[in-house]
Amino acid sequence: MSWRTPRTARRRALFIFPRTPGAVTANDAVFPFPLVGLSQLAAYFEPDFEVRIHDETRAPLRRLPAADLVLVTTLTSTAARAYEIADAYRAAGVPVVLGGVHATMLPEEAAPHADAVVVGEAEPVMERLVADAAAGRLRPVYRAETRPDLDDLPVPAVHLLSRRHRFFMGGIQTSRGCPQRCNFCSVPATFGRRLRVKSLGALDRELAALARVTRRRLFVVDDNFTLARERALAILELFRRHGFRWMGFSNLAVSEDEDFLRALRRSGCLSLFIGFESLHAHALFHKNDRYHDPAEMRRAVARIHAHGIGIQGSFIFGFDGEGPEVFEETAAFIQETGIELPAVNILTPFPGTALFDEMERAGRLLHRDWSRYDMSHVVFEPRGMTPAELQQGYAWTLKYLASPTSILRRLGRRTVDTPYFLVANFALRNAQTRLARRLWNPPVQADLESRGLLCRS
Ligand code: SF4
Repeated sequence: MSWRTPRTARRRALFIFPRTPGAVTANDAVFPFPLVGLSQLAAYFEPDFEVRIHDETRAPLRRLPAADLVLVTTLTSTAARAYEIADAYRAAGVPVVLGGVHATMLPEEAAPHADAVVVGEAEPVMERLVADAAAGRLRPVYRAETRPDLDDLPVPAVHLLSRRHRFFMGGIQTSRGCPQRCNFCSVPATFGRRLRVKSLGALDRELAALARVTRRRLFVVDDNFTLARERALAILELFRRHGFRWMGFSNLAVSEDEDFLRALRRSGCLSLFIGFESLHAHALFHKNDRYHDPAEMRRAVARIHAHGIGIQGSFIFGFDGEGPEVFEETAAFIQETGIELPAVNILTPFPGTALFDEMERAGRLLHRDWSRYDMSHVVFEPRGMTPAELQQGYAWTLKYLASPTSILRRLGRRTVDTPYFLVANFALRNAQTRLARRLWNPPVQADLESRGLLCRS
């Protein structure tokens, strides 16, 4: 594991996506999420380095694999685990680079655990970092002065991902940045508020590479793929030409454009991931759309469904003004509208967001145990209910939506893609029920039931 390796051997760079030991998350599926970011950065190290990507969500690191350089990405919820891995490698004399969204937001916290911290988007500093690593002279901080032109990025090294990462779906990023200002979201701080895009030529090359190593199913990881309509239409044609079925992030406004919906479906769109956020607090974040009440949302869902496109709907609990009645109301909305793949989360003030600063100023943060800043645990004082009620209401909703009866009922609207959504729901079900069981609080459940706020589950 020494930094110096024989002259003839290539140096070994190991990328690690950490996971907190024993953690259970609601999105632990049989097939892991495609690691688009890490495979993108890994491409800078080939062919000079021998590169591996290790995803702890698939297999915890029980012993440290041999490496000459270790690069660990950080989310807030995995920061402590990332530091633990980093400390172990450094104790063994292996240099460590920390990057990712948490290290970007709190570089001074990450610095004592690393030889180098990458702040912000890594690509503009990668060539320098690779050269410094090869020379054994890492700098303490790599901070990009500019945001990268996405056409300058190498084709992601998807061949380095495990078969399991590629089997269910590949991933692609066609743009970065989001002009919205949702106060809980770190995307504008991480990628900026201006939409930057990859050219069609670059995407064509990337899709050709993905077609060779995936089953032609694709997750478009852009934060809002349909934001720039004309550009999206051109990309849809590429998806169609390469024969991909795909899913990606969008918003409810897409439901107003029949031609666009037709083009989405024709291009192989399986489902759109839509942030409803909250049935009553939606207006806080999406001021310019008209989906400020559940009836409008219902009509939008129906219009999208009418084109044979499924919906992965994201809902967040704990906004100011929401009381404990929100759980049953949201679950009923999901079931009645037939949202195929619901994702429920607890509002989480991540460091670096406006929400974190607001909560900190107001003294509403309960603690700074980052491992519980995972959108499944309550880490702040809500306004409309107690922390225990928010925690239990979340567990109840998770359990309710993951029950076989609920899954089969909401998928009752049969389409050609129903088998896909059945598999996806049941692939997530185990983790969701395990998490609900772990969080379950019988006295709070009994109290909410006695007040008519939650039915027996
Ligand atoms: S939640 Fe979505 S729309 Fe809002 S800022 Fe983040 S990426 Fe943009």
